[in-house]
Amino acid sequence: MRYEGKLYRPPSEAHSYILQATIGCSWNNCTYCDMYREKVFRLRGIADVLDDVAEAGRRFGPRVEKVFVADGDALVMPMDHWRVILPALAAAFPGLRQVSCYAMASNVLEKTPGELEELRRSGLTLVYMGPESGDETTLRRLAKQPRPAEVSRSAAYLYDAHVAASARARASGIAVSAIFLLGAGGVARTVEHARESARLATDMNPEFLAALTLTVVPGTPIARTASHQGFVLPGAAGLLTELRTFVGEARPTDALFRTNHASNYLPLAGRLPGDADRMVRAIDAALAGNVPLRPEWARGL
Ligand code: SF4
Repeated sequence: MRYEGKLYRPPSEAHSYILQATIGCSWNNCTYCDMYREKVFRLRGIADVLDDVAEAGRRFGPRVEKVFVADGDALVMPMDHWRVILPALAAAFPGLRQVSCYAMASNVLEKTPGELEELRRSGLTLVYMGPESGDETTLRRLAKQPRPAEVSRSAAYLYDAHVAASARARASGIAVSAIFLLGAGGVARTVEHARESARLATDMNPEFLAALTLTVVPGTPIARTASHQGFVLPGAAGLLTELRTFVGEARPTDALFRTNHASNYLPLAGRLPGDADRMVRAIDAALAGNVPLRPEWARGL
């Protein structure tokens, strides 16, 4: 397997085979993200991708149950690549039960419902979407993806794009994991960010939900804003208060919720809304100082 640059994958893909079918992110513009800044986006040559799949099949074959297709927004790949890659994965890994990738809402909306259904039939089962916030002001400050053509007339077009994309993916049978970013609105938008994120989580109604915590990475646009006091990240108590609002107000039908990412102060796991009260009590205990928080040295991107 040949990998170019640093690889990123969701925590739940820790034991997956990572197939790098694209290099970088086709947008590469979010103000807080430095994951792929050194990479110029491109599709990997299909022959190289198939070589990697064949080699992984020979080495790991029946042991691989999950594949994560990298890099940053791999759903952007055109159908002719997916039509070759997904059957190759199924052939190489007889025990395969999940294929997933990151997707911007615009990537989903650029695929027709019929194309998404075809991807699902061929094995793509899950997309990770990171709206990060439901607050339209925060979303625009984060430069969270281009304006999708389908929702261009909407005043809250980034919010609406995520709702529409989640609905289209789920209607095709592809599960959605939605990721929100505590602190993304800064101190200035902390209340709006938390409340609107809970509302967006409800409206996206995904199967999986996760909260991460923003890390202001040196060299990113948001770090330059922060150095001029234009962006101030809430402290631990402010971030826990955002999490409390999110858990208390998000009402998807039934989503598995986790905060197990290393960036978070308080790891939680449960179902929303079923376990909301229990998780709110755990957050209150942490706010009261009765539960130890993850120490700064153990936190990371
Ligand atoms: S879409 Fe994702 S990978 Fe691309 S710049 Fe934004 S956060 Fe980074």
